[in-house]
Amino acid sequence: MTAPQVTVHANGNGNCHHPNPVFENSPTFQMACRQLLTAAEAIEIDPGILERLAHPKRAIVVSIPIEREDGHTENFVGFRVQHSLTSGPSKGGLRYHPSVDLGEVAALAMWMSWKCGIMNLPFGGAKGGIACDPAALTRSELERLTRRFTVEVLPVIGPRVDVMAPDMGTDEQTMAWIYDTYSMSVGYACPEIVTGKPVEIGGCVGRREATGRGVTYCILEALSELKIHPAEATAVVQGFGNVGSVTCQELHQRGVKVLAIGDRYGTIRDPRGIDVPALLKHVAAGKLVKDFPGAEEIPADELLTTPCTVLVPAALERVINAKNAARLRCRVLAEAANGPTTPDADDILARSDIYIIPDVVCNAGGVTVSYFEWVQDIQQLWWSETEVNVRLQELMRRAFHQVRCLALERKLTMRTAALSLGVQKIAKEKQRRGLYP
Ligand code: NAD
Repeated sequence: MTAPQVTVHANGNGNCHHPNPVFENSPTFQMACRQLLTAAEAIEIDPGILERLAHPKRAIVVSIPIEREDGHTENFVGFRVQHSLTSGPSKGGLRYHPSVDLGEVAALAMWMSWKCGIMNLPFGGAKGGIACDPAALTRSELERLTRRFTVEVLPVIGPRVDVMAPDMGTDEQTMAWIYDTYSMSVGYACPEIVTGKPVEIGGCVGRREATGRGVTYCILEALSELKIHPAEATAVVQGFGNVGSVTCQELHQRGVKVLAIGDRYGTIRDPRGIDVPALLKHVAAGKLVKDFPGAEEIPADELLTTPCTVLVPAALERVINAKNAARLRCRVLAEAANGPTTPDADDILARSDIYIIPDVVCNAGGVTVSYFEWVQDIQQLWWSETEVNVRLQELMRRAFHQVRCLALERKLTMRTAALSLGVQKIAKEKQRRGLYP
């Protein structure tokens, strides 16, 4: 039975068919809905299913009071949004950043659903966050914040319900605290409650590097199609955290010259190519990227428009927008961050020859190896790093080529092709399972 073809319309704000009053004012959520509608127009999808996909299944807002080092009590606000549980437990990162809000988290949860669909993982999408500046909190404040957040969201998480992972501002240690807090509350060790944990407590070898490695595999596929040898390519990277630093390292190892790197504190450039291993050591010693000797500091707003072969945004969303899209000077845009390009910028880029590797494919290496970790924790059976990397590369290549073939066959943009694949997979599952009750 084929679902009827439908035409759906975004209203003036780019909201979904029946806007959700809780999220509709968020520009990031509007952006996610606009993308969903574009993908829905490219495929056959039942309007009832589309209506369900446009609304996150569950959202929770929690107060997180903690004692600061000087003894006073401060409240933080935390969020967890589960977009879909149709394909399995929901899966998604936890972000600590001052600008985190409910709409942003809901958009990121929706993108996670499409990403898991494209990669054919047995997960739905989720995302969480706490509005805070992690750099302004001590380690013990971060621990109290994380543990209290975990307790507040206990009723809606679980290894078969919702599994968290690191995202911006969180890391392996954050996951270790969540694992411990959850395990203490249920009374047994439950490593499969989070992924991206330290390896010695059930983490997966290669998980920390997985997103950056996946980004690099995609870039290499695109360069090969464009017949550009990596040793002749240059790159510019925004963000030097987990994803940005690993991507720089992997590109550097393959001979790509990294011309400029920026983070929240500053931006550096070296036309001869930044010495990435030396920069990694510099940062590991607790120093800032902008203070790296041997590279000149440049204004942050020059980073994204620096001429290069590959531009890699690996920090925040909506950094490529109507204001700067026409000034990009790259051949490939590899979206390592989630949602770095607005739909308005997409329209502008569609008139250029820039090869876009959309976020839902480009950064899917992280959730893919998170899936490997979850499977290993459940089975208590450990894979080697070679096994992890070989399987990651295989799944990333397969997804990349499925998206590329669909885009060429149906004359779609890479983004619409990728989103259509992800949306279609979940829509079909919803159709088969039916509407409860
Ligand atoms: P991170 O916290 O490790 O690093 C974030 C980096 O962004 C830091 O270098 C920070 O200084 C920089 N940054 C912050 N604000 C900035 C600004 N205004 N201008 C320039 N740089 C700024 O985070 P991460 O885990 O590397 O995540 C980066 C992006 O990748 C996010 O969009 C995240 O959602 C996405 N992502 C991460 C993973 C993962 O496995 N960690 C997986 C998929 C997608």
